[in-house]
Amino acid sequence: MSPVAPKPVHVVQLYPRDMNIYGDFGNALVLKQRLAWYGYEPVMHSYDPGDEFPEQADILIGGGGQDSGQDTIQADLLECGDRLRALAEAGTPMLMICGLYQLFGHYFQTRSGSRIQGIGVLDVTTYGTDERLIGNVVVESEEFGRIIGYENHSGQTRLGAEVQPLGRVSKGAGNDADSGYEGARWRNVLGSYLHGALLPKNPAVADFLIATAVQRRYGDSLGALDAPQLGPVSLTELTEKARVTAASRPR
Ligand code: GLN
Repeated sequence: MSPVAPKPVHVVQLYPRDMNIYGDFGNALVLKQRLAWYGYEPVMHSYDPGDEFPEQADILIGGGGQDSGQDTIQADLLECGDRLRALAEAGTPMLMICGLYQLFGHYFQTRSGSRIQGIGVLDVTTYGTDERLIGNVVVESEEFGRIIGYENHSGQTRLGAEVQPLGRVSKGAGNDADSGYEGARWRNVLGSYLHGALLPKNPAVADFLIATAVQRRYGDSLGALDAPQLGPVSLTELTEKARVTAASRPR
């Protein structure tokens, strides 16, 4: 008897050509590897302006970019707006970092006063300021525990009534210089300022995306991960070391 073929899970990375800085591509690698470890077949898609949008999208991720990168992808993003809003509405898990977090909101008004329109999946608005928020960040989140990452942005984001913050910062700025909030969530869409990449140091967030995707697609509940051995250490030990080191870095 032939073994059962693993079930495919389609991961769509939005605009990796223009929106992919400070290690954001690591998020795609983590999802690919963890899906395989959980026994699924990761099917990875890159979507750049003008590409045909993948037919199946079980998880969507997107990264950060310079204001110019945001300008470059904006028209295409607006064209995809209906599709992305429908996916979000239906409960598709998504993780949008920094520049795409901003453009999944209503708009990003840059320092020069020009407005880069977003698609309004998340009820947030962003204003460019002269103060760049740069450095290591630690966030305390009810759902995901401690989230650790790195931020670098001029835009400051205000949350509307429709979204929840991901958590409260205990180091760094997060959404803006004064609210103490980091990130936003609506349904299963997560927005965050944290690069680094986010997912390698925060497997709880990766597993939220994976668990939600396989539940929606197959009705599966995600079992425990039999953490693989990576050379002399286990994945769990390695991740913990990375988290401790990153959280103890100076701001
Ligand atoms: N260009 C945006 C800003 O400066 C986003 C930056 C980023 O994605 N790191 O706020």
